[in-house]
Amino acid sequence: MRVAFIGLGDIGSLMASHLARDPFSLTVWNRTASKAQEFASTHSARVASSAVEAVRGAEVVVTCLPSSAEVEAVLHGKTGILDALERGATLLDCTSGDPATSRSIAAELSRRGVSFIDAPVSGGTTAAKSGTLTVMWGGAESDFERVRPVIEAFGKKIVHAGPVGAGDALKAVNNALLAVHILSTGEGLAILVKAGVDPSTALEVINASSGRSNTSENLIPQRVLTRAFPRTFRLALLDKDIGIAESLAAELGMQTPILSLAARRLHEARSTLGEEVDHVEAVKMIEAENGVVIE
Ligand code: NDP
Repeated sequence: MRVAFIGLGDIGSLMASHLARDPFSLTVWNRTASKAQEFASTHSARVASSAVEAVRGAEVVVTCLPSSAEVEAVLHGKTGILDALERGATLLDCTSGDPATSRSIAAELSRRGVSFIDAPVSGGTTAAKSGTLTVMWGGAESDFERVRPVIEAFGKKIVHAGPVGAGDALKAVNNALLAVHILSTGEGLAILVKAGVDPSTALEVINASSGRSNTSENLIPQRVLTRAFPRTFRLALLDKDIGIAESLAAELGMQTPILSLAARRLHEARSTLGEEVDHVEAVKMIEAENGVVIE
């Protein structure tokens, strides 16, 4: 199966690694060409000199870009791939995108005989490495069947969320919950540190009690208490995701004050800490505001 992969970032490169083997014939393209060269030096993949060249002849084109805006740019920009996509091909967009843009892309591609599936992933870089990502996809079953082998190469739990855009919606809400957990657990532990409770002791209790979450069980012990803060998922991307959830809520005319407050706080963290830091570093904003270190 001829697959083109566009976007070899923190997670994209790990996902693409599972496609660099039979029965796939993989061509990669990345905006920063050195990353594609580096990928091909350790994986069985051809490097295309342009996105257009990458998608020519591909049956499945996988995109894994920061947001739907970059997917639009790759399709429609000056060197866009729109005209190079083969009739009968499928664009499998693994970007955590926004539902409205995905629906509009799907409609445009459909007029050209190209199908579209939004297939955001969760599980982070650890699950991407082991090929055990959770994949939430939106689109038609018949289109999914054509790309199933590609999704199964990097996914373990694969769930049909609904029509095009439903995968994006589900992903945005999941990540909004992640943002709330990071901010609330960070605040809770900051209170306890100031009150004189050791954060490891606090987590021992919280993780055996009802306040626990993946954030308290894994992220805080492994990344905050150790002060390691590895970069696996940029804070800027989490800010984008909670923004998508907030816009979706607004579009649907809903009242979601906790979501809105968390979105504002994440946005503040991004403005203060910058575009390149990891999402868990949002805790540093809470620490700085309160004069405590959770360690
Ligand atoms: P990164 O920021 O690490 O990588 C982004 C990729 O997109 C890079 O290859 C970058 O190229 C490319 N890119 C950015 N802008 C453009 C553009 N205008 N035109 C062409 N290519 C562009 O992101 P991740 O790999 O972490 O994330 C990708 C998607 O997956 C996001 O939607 C994210 O929310 C989602 N995701 C990420 C997870 C994670 O743990 N990292 C977990 C689950 C979902 P270049 O190398 O030139 O910068």
